[in-house]
Amino acid sequence: MPRNDLKKHIAGTRIKSVDRRAKFLIIGMVNGAELVIHLGMTGRLGIFPQNFPKAKHDHCRIQLDNGKQLIFNDIRRFGSIQVMPPGSSFCNSMQINLGPEPLGREFTPQYLQKLAVGKNRPLKNFLMDNRVVVGIGNIYASEILFQAGLKPERKICRLTKKHWVEVVKSCHYVLEKAIKSGGTTISDFVNESGKNGYFQLELQAYGKQGEPCSCCAAPIKKITMAGRSTFFCPKCQK
Ligand SMILES: [Zn+2]
Repeated sequence: MPRNDLKKHIAGTRIKSVDRRAKFLIIGMVNGAELVIHLGMTGRLGIFPQNFPKAKHDHCRIQLDNGKQLIFNDIRRFGSIQVMPPGSSFCNSMQINLGPEPLGREFTPQYLQKLAVGKNRPLKNFLMDNRVVVGIGNIYASEILFQAGLKPERKICRLTKKHWVEVVKSCHYVLEKAIKSGGTTISDFVNESGKNGYFQLELQAYGKQGEPCSCCAAPIKKITMAGRSTFFCPKCQK
């Protein structure tokens, strides 16, 4: 944790903006510095009253001038906090390596098809690559491909425009539904309002191996791709 950088660049200044890029929260300060937070798998960030009791795994507590405090708590320590000094923007430093947002305007069937030319990669790995598109993790990748009716192992160079239209449509459908229902619950995850996300209840493929597909009743299959559990319907997904 960058204690000295926090003191030097963040203490005493004012928050100007709160933004997100990929899985990073970016809190911009009026002096140009940025506080960049990644929640990892179990990180929680929240605003709490002044006298809120200290908890185990509180890695950072920042006193705000309205008497409240911003607390970052992370049980498993996969999360991170970094300070970008004034003049060095986190987005600029990451831009070259990060693809567009899945709900943004640049994420189109044409964009994906162009990128896939001559590439033999499996579709699921392609969608989970941050250089292609940001923010699609393992759970959502399985759900999106179930929705699109495409096998996770499909080679991307063989997909047609029609397939890519389906992929983009399914990304929008699954992610918008997930956002509306508050995110996905895994173990102890809670969203910023402290409530459990409910998307888990509506998963169609992820974690459902052996259970009947909601469309055709064939048992959902589980395989491992790039070291990650992958779920699909062997009948509906082609
Ligand atoms: Zn099916």
